[in-house]
Amino acid sequence: MRSSPPPSHEDPVAARLRRAEPCLWFNPRRRDTAARLPVAGTQIGLDDMEAAAARFARCAPLLAQVFPELRAVGGVIESPLLRAPGLHPAAGLAPGQGALWIKADHGLPVAGSVKARGGIHEVLELAERLALRHGLLTPQSGPGDYRALAGPAARAVFARHTVAVGSTGNLGLGIGVAASALGFRAVVHMSADAKEWKKERLRLRGVQVVEHAGDYEGAVAAGRAQAAQDPFSHFVDDERSLSLLLGYSAAAPYLRRQLRDAGIAVDARHPLFVYLPCGVGGAPAGITFGLRQVLGPHVHCFFAEPVQSPCFMVQMMAGQGAHPSVYDWGLTNKTEADGLAVPRASLPAAELMAPLLSGCFTVRDETLFRQLVQVLDATGERIEPSAAAGLGGPGLLAGTDGGRAWLAAQGLLPHLPQATHLVWTTGGLFVPPEAYARFVERGRAAG
Ligand SMILES: *Cc1c(COP(=O)(O)O)cnc(C)c1O
Repeated sequence: MRSSPPPSHEDPVAARLRRAEPCLWFNPRRRDTAARLPVAGTQIGLDDMEAAAARFARCAPLLAQVFPELRAVGGVIESPLLRAPGLHPAAGLAPGQGALWIKADHGLPVAGSVKARGGIHEVLELAERLALRHGLLTPQSGPGDYRALAGPAARAVFARHTVAVGSTGNLGLGIGVAASALGFRAVVHMSADAKEWKKERLRLRGVQVVEHAGDYEGAVAAGRAQAAQDPFSHFVDDERSLSLLLGYSAAAPYLRRQLRDAGIAVDARHPLFVYLPCGVGGAPAGITFGLRQVLGPHVHCFFAEPVQSPCFMVQMMAGQGAHPSVYDWGLTNKTEADGLAVPRASLPAAELMAPLLSGCFTVRDETLFRQLVQVLDATGERIEPSAAAGLGGPGLLAGTDGGRAWLAAQGLLPHLPQATHLVWTTGGLFVPPEAYARFVERGRAAG
């Protein structure tokens, strides 16, 4: 399926990418400003991120009512910021190259992954819209009034509506669980590479799981087409949805408070490097958008992808006029990191990232398993393979010639000792013990 032979003058990063070898690419279009930005024919800015954060806040009493696991935390879906000095060697950081922290979204309640942010936001936005339309809420309703959305009148409205989604697994888990808990009918279209336990978990909650023989793109396209036939069906479009993206962005104001509480400065002399596992790009793009809005130009975000599925890197290299797939590069899209097994990036996410993203890098599957074990041994935290992808970033940035040359060119090298490296671990909470034990076995064998 390779569209054209590689050019003989191909640059070294592209050559490594084509050979499925780990590589690091820097975005030449990044700018320091992040005002209102174009995306999918509209523009979004700080106010849109704040609106998503406000929606989570006013829905918190409802979430606490519907999800027992959120009662003790007042309906707030958030994760801790963890110090991880024991992981410096695993992340490839030498002494004097900054401090390593983990943003522990692998433990996010309800969805068990970063999808809790975007997926639940979109379901809440839909529920709110329907409730307003049916007079169950008014624009003046306060957070306490939102508890009514768990009541019989609201459930009767929601029961007439279907929430559908196409997913490699985790988005389906998040959307399926959130939608069915509010009383919606829920349909999840899954690709062949989705894990059996994820399908099982959804079926147990009354979610309809439709299996597709092909890859992630096929599952999304089938779901989109089916939902388009039905006016009472809302399709959560992982490739195009701004509601998803803005739900992810609401992570930023909370993280800003966590950084402040931990005494971590982010400024010209204290850069923050953030490493985010990337599938179609919505989750890491939403988070990057939010972080650049609230923390400014001294936060540098990097997306992490499997060597066989670097869809976002090939999209960023090609620019907005094109929509290449990893197959066009002779790659297979085969990876055990099922949350990241996506052949073609979200175009809106790539458009939004053009001026914001610092770069992309790729990681081998064996490295993911090895690092999953290193995370367990150093911190006791249990993450899934996809969630380990970010750990490859600090070493590529601080410990390779290419990374250091870029840091020097950006004026960042002198500040490396005071830098913070934040690895975003994106999933794992609901991995069954047997499956996790196999991951660990494979990681120990690899390393
Ligand atoms: C979905 C997912 C990602 C990436 O999110 P995208 O929006 O697909 O880029 C990363 N890690 C895990 C565990 C995921 O489930």
